Amino acid sequence: MSLLIKGGVIVTANDEFTGDILVEGEKIVAIGKDLPANAVQVIDAKGKFVLPGGIDQHVHYSFDYKGEPVRNFETSDAAIVGGTTTVIEFVNQEKGKGLAETINDYDKREVSTLAMVDYAFHSVICDPIDKTFDEIPSLPSEGISSAKLFMAYKGLPFHSDDAAVFKALLAARDAGVTVMLHAENADAIDVLQKRHIQRGEVEPIYHAISRPPIVEIEATQRAVQLAKLADAPAYIVHVTAKGAMEVIRDANKEGAQVFGETCTHYLVLDKEHLAKPDFEGAKYVCSPALRKEKDRESLWKAVDKRWLNAVSSDHCGFNWKEQKHMGIDNFTNIPNGTPGVQDRLAILWTYGVETGKISRQRLVDLFATTPAKINGLDGRKGHIGVEYDADLVIYNPEPESVISNKTSLHGVDYNLYEGMKQKGKVEKVFLRGKLMVEDGEFMGKQGDGERLNCKPFGLSYQA
Ligand SMILES: [Zn+2]
Repeated sequence: MSLLIKGGVIVTANDEFTGDILVEGEKIVAIGKDLPANAVQVIDAKGKFVLPGGIDQHVHYSFDYKGEPVRNFETSDAAIVGGTTTVIEFVNQEKGKGLAETINDYDKREVSTLAMVDYAFHSVICDPIDKTFDEIPSLPSEGISSAKLFMAYKGLPFHSDDAAVFKALLAARDAGVTVMLHAENADAIDVLQKRHIQRGEVEPIYHAISRPPIVEIEATQRAVQLAKLADAPAYIVHVTAKGAMEVIRDANKEGAQVFGETCTHYLVLDKEHLAKPDFEGAKYVCSPALRKEKDRESLWKAVDKRWLNAVSSDHCGFNWKEQKHMGIDNFTNIPNGTPGVQDRLAILWTYGVETGKISRQRLVDLFATTPAKINGLDGRKGHIGVEYDADLVIYNPEPESVISNKTSLHGVDYNLYEGMKQKGKVEKVFLRGKLMVEDGEFMGKQGDGERLNCKPFGLSYQA
């Protein structure tokens, strides 16, 4: 099967030009002007942008919070209709099981037959025993090139103390495994949470009040120092506070190998959403918490200036009615996490490109190209180039719409961005040459997604 996408504006992380893309089977085989139109299928992309399929390096389809599970890969069509063709899933290690064993079992059990996007895995250390750290060097042979630890969440099974973080950094260094850290001071949050609850301050807004920016700034600083001590790179996930961003920016300038991402919702939503009446604030409970406008402005600047190098969704599909309501009398029982895998491109386009905060090239870099490099998927994913997978998004910049849960496929009973304006639309999406989305509608089927192997020594090691 050959496919020719004609006359679109092809956007990459460092370029933009009008041209044609020829696809044979699953791969891009030629890019140029006026390629001969003898392909079996010819698509006219005039007036549209052609972007590489997105890489969302931060999703949770297998998370559970105090026994309550999120929506799983059955809802991964939401990713692809939003222009994301690859997701990287965080898999929490099961106690008594190896990191790779947990991942491979989960893949067989719940992912391989359901995924509607290509996918790879991050390991998450939850059992900080010697055996776990000893396994880290062999992860790349299983196609896993990252290990995440939660410095936050004291008292929950996935919390890691500094010893675990430090041991992981030491073990990861020579193997080229990227250690990813959720940086918040777990002890300080625990003390603050208990104080608020004692005073009867139980509403969702106290989620944000009990985890102020300084708990993130402090833990980010500690992560930088531990990474320096181990002489290993570290990657800080979901950076939200201006001060935490500055810690990473400045550490980089001084030669430390510490990098970070932010997430879509931290760029456009703020803390005040948690104060919405009738428990609606619970919809916005995620960690770190949403911040203030000055933080949002500094995050936009940071992604534009490359101080932060990716924008992920941190997609985590808990329903509001049943699951978020576990915390109706106590905000500490509200499952943490928000859905957003479908809206990442539209939000970055509408509130980043259309407002002039970032260029289209920068969008592509944050949305696809750099996440591929961080996770060792470059050479195949995240870019429009010859020999790359034909993961392509045709984006029509003209339509205007309003984001609504009615058109969301994530299987969650609310949309974080409900009522916000959207400029442009994902019209078509190809996954390895296969048409998966047509006029915004999902055309693929469960199991169309393929597991990807991540190479070690990703971007964090190359600085
Ligand atoms: Zn997350």
